[in-house]
Amino acid sequence: MVVGDASLDIDLLVIGAGPGGYVAAIRAAQLGKSVLIVDKSDWGGVCLNRGCIPSKALISAAHTYEHAQHADSMGISVDNVKVDFAKVQEWKNGIVKKQTGGVNALLKGNKIQMFQGEVMFINENEARVFNDQEAPRYRFQNCIIATGSRPIELKAFPYGGRIISSTEALNLPEIPKSMVVIGGGYIGIELGQTFAKFGTKVTVLEGSDHVLPGFEKELTKLVARNLEKIGVEVHTEALAQSSVKNENDVTVTFTVKGEEKQITADYVLVTVGRRPNTDGELGLDLINMKLTDRGLIEVDNQGRTSIPHIFAIGDVVPGLALAHKASYEAKVAAEAIAGLPSVVDYKAMPAVVFSDPEIASVGLNETEAKEKGYNVTIGKFPYAANGRANSLNAGQGFVKLVGDKETGLLLGGQVVGPEASNLIGELALAIEMAANLEDIALTIHAHPTLTEMVMDAAEGALGHPIHQLGK
Ligand SMILES: Cc1cc2nc3c(=O)[nH]c(=O)nc-3n(C[C@H](O)[C@H](O)[C@H](O)COP(=O)(O)OP(=O)(O)OC[C@H]3O[C@@H](n4cnc5c(N)ncnc54)[C@H](O)[C@@H]3O)c2cc1C
Repeated sequence: MVVGDASLDIDLLVIGAGPGGYVAAIRAAQLGKSVLIVDKSDWGGVCLNRGCIPSKALISAAHTYEHAQHADSMGISVDNVKVDFAKVQEWKNGIVKKQTGGVNALLKGNKIQMFQGEVMFINENEARVFNDQEAPRYRFQNCIIATGSRPIELKAFPYGGRIISSTEALNLPEIPKSMVVIGGGYIGIELGQTFAKFGTKVTVLEGSDHVLPGFEKELTKLVARNLEKIGVEVHTEALAQSSVKNENDVTVTFTVKGEEKQITADYVLVTVGRRPNTDGELGLDLINMKLTDRGLIEVDNQGRTSIPHIFAIGDVVPGLALAHKASYEAKVAAEAIAGLPSVVDYKAMPAVVFSDPEIASVGLNETEAKEKGYNVTIGKFPYAANGRANSLNAGQGFVKLVGDKETGLLLGGQVVGPEASNLIGELALAIEMAANLEDIALTIHAHPTLTEMVMDAAEGALGHPIHQLGK
């Protein structure tokens, strides 16, 4: 492949094959570009291999186990429900393999050159790609950096042995007896709740005054209650201070409002955020790429960096570190490179936590809308009043719509409850289409479905709810 040290010419070099990189490569190929995509690890990136997909698989398995144990309220009793965790892991790994195989097939099917290796910039127009066998050099017209992120390591809790990140937590060979989770954000809560359902004694240490601090307290209350129900001990306003690692356990010292406490567990899972992969071997310093003080790559509304023919997307740029954000930015950047006038617009960017119950949000919440000066109207509809929710034995939660009282425009929506992750899709579409509350209320929603709650909440916000009294 390499001819001496001469550079091979390509239109577009995509670095990283996560939901940012592989989507950008496919969109650019559709638009006629010759594309080389390189990943030093696995096709599908963090999301498919060590993030969204394996975590959701474990969450589903834990749900299934829990439902089997507690189906007696529906008149079904199952004796002797057991978890074979090795089989759970095997099943999860099979799903990851299927999904990553799909990405591989899509890249090949779109005639995208694929190379497994690590990219290092030589200058603004050339990069070298290293693996064990070869180190070809490429000259590119455009480049998209989609190198993603990795877990932040706390100095007092160095990874290794019994102190683990989400990556190791997803691959534990057996269910631990106990686990301390440092960080009650979405990754910590999803994984902590999952292991607790499998039988692990979980303790969560969260620095702010409620778990899932990125969401309004009103939305997180039900999750906090369910955590308590399954025996998860949550310490809020808690600061993890130090650790003593042994072969079989770790002792964590932490403070809660100044009071020092200690706890010993099989594992400590640190989930305090993620750091962009913009340092190290990639060589962004060699090309003087402009970064923020958090190490994120500064981009314009097409994903263009301070070097105009190099773009960046996903977890390496500011904003939420979410797979669908990466894929969205990927399409915009690929289209911009192809000369299309695409730009990003984040107003309908959903965020979902696959906790129990799920939490999902899109657009502005009530506080944000008020801060922006809107005179808001709120429609809130409880799962308990929805026929389908009750027939699913899923009567916990609510749908909340935030509308502009003057124009009726839907500004945002939040859902907490089973299938919130799916319900949020309708609200994202409504915001994207600039729908108003009346559009939603007039849309015929099939009965009996959870989606009827969206219509009911819109009617509530308009002041004429059918399935609620006292409005
Ligand atoms: C446990 C967990 C659960 C998550 N759950 C969700 C969820 O439910 N929903 C959601 O939206 N998001 C979720 N996320 C976040 C999501 O995984 C990320 O936001 C998403 O993967 C970011 O995509 P990306 O393309 O920017 O980067 P990544 O997916 O991180 O991919 C970057 C790729 O670049 C490669 N790379 C890095 N440096 C180089 C180099 N120099 N040369 C070559 N290759 C390189 C890496 O090997 C990697 O494959 C989760 C994350 C975790 C950890």
